Amino acid sequence: MRVVIAMMKHETNTFSPVPTPLSRFASGQAEPYREGEVVKAFRGTNSALAAFLDLAEEAGAEIVTPIAANARPSGPVEQSAYQAMTDAICEAVAAGCDACLLDLHGAMVTEELEDGEGTLLARLRAINPDLPIACAFDMHTNLYPAIIENCTTLAGFQTYPHIDNYETGLRAGKPLFAMLRGEVRPTVAWGQKPMLPHVMCQGTGRFPNKDLQARTREMEQEPDVLSATLFVGFPHADISQAGLSAVVLTDNNPEKAQRYTDELLEFAWKHRADWVYQIEPLDQSLARAAQVKEGPVVLLDHFDNAASGGTMDTMTVLGGILDAGLEDVAAYAICDPRAVQEMIAAGIGNEVTVSLGGKMSMPSLGLQGQPREVTGRVKLIHNGQYRNQGPAGTGVLFDQGPTVVLDTGKVEIVVTSRQNEPNDQQAFRALGIDPTRKKFLMLKSRVHFRAGFEEMAKEIIECAGTGVCTSDYGQLTFKNVRRPIYPLDDL
Ligand SMILES: [Zn+2]
Repeated sequence: MRVVIAMMKHETNTFSPVPTPLSRFASGQAEPYREGEVVKAFRGTNSALAAFLDLAEEAGAEIVTPIAANARPSGPVEQSAYQAMTDAICEAVAAGCDACLLDLHGAMVTEELEDGEGTLLARLRAINPDLPIACAFDMHTNLYPAIIENCTTLAGFQTYPHIDNYETGLRAGKPLFAMLRGEVRPTVAWGQKPMLPHVMCQGTGRFPNKDLQARTREMEQEPDVLSATLFVGFPHADISQAGLSAVVLTDNNPEKAQRYTDELLEFAWKHRADWVYQIEPLDQSLARAAQVKEGPVVLLDHFDNAASGGTMDTMTVLGGILDAGLEDVAAYAICDPRAVQEMIAAGIGNEVTVSLGGKMSMPSLGLQGQPREVTGRVKLIHNGQYRNQGPAGTGVLFDQGPTVVLDTGKVEIVVTSRQNEPNDQQAFRALGIDPTRKKFLMLKSRVHFRAGFEEMAKEIIECAGTGVCTSDYGQLTFKNVRRPIYPLDDL
């Protein structure tokens, strides 16, 4: 048996000005991992791809790994990059194989396509109409019919923060190998609701997603349920099918697949008001922060989340922290490669004044970038690479590019050359900062920070700043999403 295993992941924020060339799909190198590099880079990591490798090895299959490409969320994928990645996968399949297992995101939009994944799957089906295809998806998948029509088995994350990547690979891949052994006949049902759940309300620690995901796991305990998935969708994508959906895979029981799909959808819809987020003004949030006695307190800059396509260089929340005079703060992070180079030139231990952040304009919001002059001492210079040790992406290499810690005396500001979300304490520890000993931690994140920081945080204060991951959907102009849709429209 010959099996093609590949990864092509990107969550596209169509409002983001951050470009997405092929080089963004690599971690620690210029190009995505290719044949010969993939197994070494991902075996043993908390990824669906690692699960696919284990399943294929267990089945005694010959493994072909044409590409593993994973980009941090940003604007639409450059068409040439999409072409290069999908060509690699299609050529490997065209060379002949018995099955294909893909570690995908499910919310990839390119310069020309709303549905990057469905288009790839349709192309694979055209090459080999009978090819068994298993797909693992992120919970933020915006599900399109072409995805369902052109894969054989699938499963999506059941946790947010996403810590079940490997298990999701098993849930997608096991039914495929069982089918190849003639043990099951996968039957799929799916559906969607006209709703855009707010990202700040999507965490699996809170109602209603906590209950929904628990229910999918319960469904999977039944022997004829092969996988059950509730996708919350990714709302910062102005595409027709953005939003919540569900998919259930059974062993030849179409009636149950449909009934369980409907049950998940109805529950999500019934509680749609619980997916709507209330914003607190920034000055109120920072005033509350100033009153807190004991740290660490997370100050969450959720409008500029690097893991949802944020520029990671808006200065509103950090500026508010500096203006409020908060002390003993570590801030992760401002992405500003130019400032990094200036500080590297200044050298460790020296005082610098830099025009920090605000380098990227945000045309979708009608905003120019607004840098802020900051003076401090260059405390540390680092190559920016580290591996996660916490539950999210365990063992995976993260590469924030050349990185500097700028110490103002009150605030230690991490300044990176690439956008990177702090979902693990290593984001600080690799730079010699112990986050547990800080009074305040400013984090540019929305939900994923919880994987690394929720347990240690004495309090979490959500700070409304500026950015293309805005939690105020009223700032976004939706032109392509199907209407009516809740909560943009009264439903
Ligand atoms: Zn996600």
